[in-house]
Formats: sequence, C-alpha cells, structure tokens
Amino acid sequence: MRIRLQDLTKRYRQSVAVSKLNVDIPSGEFLIVLGTSGSGKSTTLNMIAGLETPTSGYIFFNEHVVNQIPPGKRDVALVFQNYALYPHMKVHDNIAFPLKIRKEKDADKKIINTAAMLGLTTLLQKYPKELSGGERQRVALARALVRNPQVFLMDEPLSNLDARLRLTARGELKKLQRDRNITTVYVTHDQTEALTLGDRIVVMDKGSLQQVDTPNEIYQKPQNTFVAGFIGTPPMNMINIKPCGDRSFVSGETTFEFPAPLPVKMNCILGIRPEKLTLVPAHTPYAIPGLVEYIEYLGHETISHVKIAPNVTWYVKDTVERTRVGELVGLKFLPEDTHWFDPVTGGRIAN
Ligand code: ADP
Ligand code: MG
Repeated sequence: MRIRLQDLTKRYRQSVAVSKLNVDIPSGEFLIVLGTSGSGKSTTLNMIAGLETPTSGYIFFNEHVVNQIPPGKRDVALVFQNYALYPHMKVHDNIAFPLKIRKEKDADKKIINTAAMLGLTTLLQKYPKELSGGERQRVALARALVRNPQVFLMDEPLSNLDARLRLTARGELKKLQRDRNITTVYVTHDQTEALTLGDRIVVMDKGSLQQVDTPNEIYQKPQNTFVAGFIGTPPMNMINIKPCGDRSFVSGETTFEFPAPLPVKMNCILGIRPEKLTLVPAHTPYAIPGLVEYIEYLGHETISHVKIAPNVTWYVKDTVERTRVGELVGLKFLPEDTHWFDPVTGGRIAN
C-alpha cells in the first residue's frame, strides 16, 4: 500500500500539532517519524490510522483519499505506546483475537511463531496482569504482527523494553517487515532506532517536517541546523563564524585558521561531527586550539569536551583517551568533513 500525505495539518484550538506535512511513502517502505516529545509524531500517526481527523490536507491510501474512512475499514494494524490488552484474556487469546475476528486459517501456527519470535512462548497461558510492562508491550506487538494487514502503524512500540530486549526486538521487527514487505510507519524519539530500522526517516520539529531522507543522507547531509543538532550522539559541533581573508575566520574575539580556502564568503555556521575531529598537540598548524574541560569514558570510546571559545564547547569522539582534563590541545579536521549552514534560516548552504 502506498501512503501519501498531502499538506496534512492538525490544529487544536490555538496550537498547530502538525503543519502542512507532505510525505510520499512507497509500498513496502519502513518509514520512521522521528522527533522530540510534542513534535507531532503521534498526531500524524493517529491521522493515518483514522483516530484523529485532519484539520486540512489529505491522506491517500494508494489513489484513494481516506480522510473520512473509519479506522476499522483501513486495514491497518496498530501498536501503541500504551498497549491496551484485553485483561480477561490470556496472552494466547490476546494474540489470537485479530485472527479470530477475521476467521483466519492456520491461526495457531501463526500465534506460536509470532510468540516465539518475541520471546513469549512461556507466557501464553498467563493473564496481562501477571506480566511486566515490557512483556505486555511485546504481547501488544505480537497481536499486531500476527496479522497481515496492508499497513503497520507503530507508536514507540519498544519504549518499555530493556536495552537488550529492545536490540533483539529491533532485529526481529526489521526482518519481519522486510520479509512481508508491508508498508510501516513507525514513530520514535530514539535516533538509534530511527537510524537502524528506517528505510527513510522523517525528522519533525514543532509539527513541521525538517527533512525526509535515508538514514545515511540524514546523517551525512543534514539539511539544517536542527537536524544536525538532533542526530548523532553527541550531536554535531557548530559555531557561528565570520570569514576574514581567504583561509581564516573569526568567532567572537577568537581567530581560527582553516586548512583550505574557505568555501563560504559570508557569515555562517560551521559544523563538524565529533568523530571527524582528531585531538593533536596544542599549536599544531590549522588545528582549532582548545582547553580540555571534561572527559567521558564509555569503554569503547571517549568523549572529550573541549572549550574552543568563551561560550563554545565542542565534543571530540575517539576510541582511546588521548588527553587529560586541563590540557591545551588542538582539534584537527579535514575541509571535506565540514558542514555549512545559513545563520538566519539554519539551512544547509554548501557541500
Ligand atoms: P509527539 O507524539 O511527537 O510527542 P503529539 O503528536 O502527541 O507529539 O503532540 C503534538 C502537539 O499537539 C503537542 O503540543 C500536544 O500537546 C498537542 N496535542 C496532542 N493531542 C492533543 C489534544 N487532543 N488536544 C490538544 N492538544 C493536543
Ligand atoms: Mg507521541
């Protein structure tokens, strides 16, 4: 099923929850809707499900406008953050319910396979009240996945699982969606989930679409400072600069040297990802000088916090600890690893 959102808008009294959203989701795509809390993700999903009516704009399922079609007639399977299970039914019957009302064949086989996939085999004879939050969430997921709908709509379905279970559930979900090729819209605030699961990601902020692209494009070519500052842990380092001469720029009172002719001529925002910076000795030519303020040791990597100007601290990601707190260092980078943004609009302006 191809889903198309055209100028989709939802207003609640004064506030705009979703503003003129345009997205074309080809059949079989796993689309992630990513954003912070309150950015309009759930509202978008609920409109696609038919649980909320758009204020304006259209939702197409293939060539048909479905704005007026009730949820039950859209053939979508939903998984919500707040999984609602039938309390008087055992896990098995909760999972079986959508198959039963459709009188599907091979129901038992499907239930057993889905339960096994989500690690629920030993829980089939229990009641929801006997389960933990994470177990209930997996039952809700199983109840959706046991069907073969035209569309899966999922709102933070893994949010209550612990880190390890989330990792395996993510893998299973991706495999399953790929095998069955069912169009899926998946809402999350978790960028790791977004980058690992999505064929494409829609990044939203305050109800507006910021970028829609593959995970790789979103990471390598963020289209504005919001996306650059939202994706990546830690996020992209940025600084307001003013060119002064061919190879140097100033920020506040500090002058910096650039390792190549500057690709911009006007005031702008320079961005560099933490893993594209290398810690080198202080005074190394073309390295940005700074003071190490703090070092986070994370086992497989270290994040050094380096102050490069009075109000600017940059992060450097490295696999080993190369420095000490209080040390003066240089931050080396390659010209091709820089990103440039317009200081007024925040939009990407070069490379
Ligand atoms: P998200 O899922 O990204 O956290 P939501 O789509 O739930 O965001 O909400 C987007 C905005 O719309 C928020 O500011 C929220 O307060 C508002 N909103 C959501 N539902 C309602 C509602 N039923 N009535 C009024 N405001 C709402
Ligand atoms: Mg939400």
